[in-house]
Amino acid sequence: MNILVTGGAGYIGSHTCLEMLNENYKLVVYDNLSNSSLDALKRVEKLTGKEVKFIEGDLLNVEKLEQVFQNERFDAVIHFAGLKAVGESVEKPLEYYDNNVVGTLNLLKIMQKYNVKKIVFSSSATVYGVPEKLPLTEESPRSTTNPYGTSKLVIEYILEDLAKSDPEWKIISLRYFNPVGAHKSGEIGEDPNGIPNNLLPFISQVAVGLRDKLNIFGDDYSTKDGTGIRDYIHVVDLAKGHLAALKCMTDATEKGFIPINLGTGNGYSILEMIKAFEKASGKTIPYEVVKRREGDVAECFADTTYAYKKLGWKAKKSIEEMCADAWKWQSTNPDGYRS
Ligand code: NAD
Ligand code: UDP
Repeated sequence: MNILVTGGAGYIGSHTCLEMLNENYKLVVYDNLSNSSLDALKRVEKLTGKEVKFIEGDLLNVEKLEQVFQNERFDAVIHFAGLKAVGESVEKPLEYYDNNVVGTLNLLKIMQKYNVKKIVFSSSATVYGVPEKLPLTEESPRSTTNPYGTSKLVIEYILEDLAKSDPEWKIISLRYFNPVGAHKSGEIGEDPNGIPNNLLPFISQVAVGLRDKLNIFGDDYSTKDGTGIRDYIHVVDLAKGHLAALKCMTDATEKGFIPINLGTGNGYSILEMIKAFEKASGKTIPYEVVKRREGDVAECFADTTYAYKKLGWKAKKSIEEMCADAWKWQSTNPDGYRS
């Protein structure tokens, strides 16, 4: 199978490319490198001994994108490309809607024109907004609290309408919970630009000495220890979820818009994550409790029943492995791909 991977040089994309190459998929990565490095794909090639066809291009460049479809025949698309920083999306909503929503529309229109009607989309648990009931199932009500989340939800609506309009489309929207960790080799991992927004990359940078301490955003939530609870999932488990989604789409009976949660079903608090990371790294993580971060929810974790039923997929890796692999990546590449 020949798969177009948009955003394949990024964090989740590079780990998924590695797993796909190991399963002998042919890949073309289309990425504008706005938040990634070509080194990630070079390392994927080294680890797998296989070649990745890379095209540097933007989803907003319709001509370039169309050329890719003229030159290649794809069986399906995995669509990772997008901007993902919540805070930045509040400051630059137009950029986020343009990049994420317009970029996706461009892709879908060209896919339709070239009769490529299978897509796996990177959605997010953020489409559940403030959870009314936990765990979150695929039927839980959707709402959003920031432009990034709204861009994901709008794309889901577009995908649903598209699937309704034409029964040939097979669309799997994977709602990721909190991807963390790195490939066990320590060769590829998460390489945030500037100050990390997310918990694990921040903790990793404190552990390696790039930052003094972690700010814990609130310890007065009504959770087991007062700190926020999330469903952290190892990025390699997540990558394997994409392979399961591709396999599911080759089943002739599967059609329409299919949203699927990718999480572990377990919630861990910030204090528990700090403890696990300290154990994995042998480092102490100094922290200070500061006020809550606006827009954060107290608790969020997935119901994973449907993912198992539909894809036969289940996350396998523990938080110990998530922290150990994140630490291996961070300690061997303290400055990410610039190291
Ligand atoms: P990432 O930033 O590492 O990867 C995204 C990739 O897309 C980058 O390589 C970037 O250069 C590329 N890109 C962005 N806009 C583009 C455009 N217009 N044209 C071409 N390439 C473009 O992010 P990631 O963590 O790997 O996330 C992948 C996807 O998963 C994103 O859509 C993100 O919103 C979604 N997601 C991520 C998380 C998370 O916590 N990492 C959680 C839920 C959903
Ligand atoms: N968090 C924190 N300090 C940080 C980054 C995150 O206390 O520097 C908390 C955040 O409030 C949330 C949890 O860690 O409770 C996970 O945050 P992250 O941004 O990684 O994921 P999201 O909030 O998007 O689920």
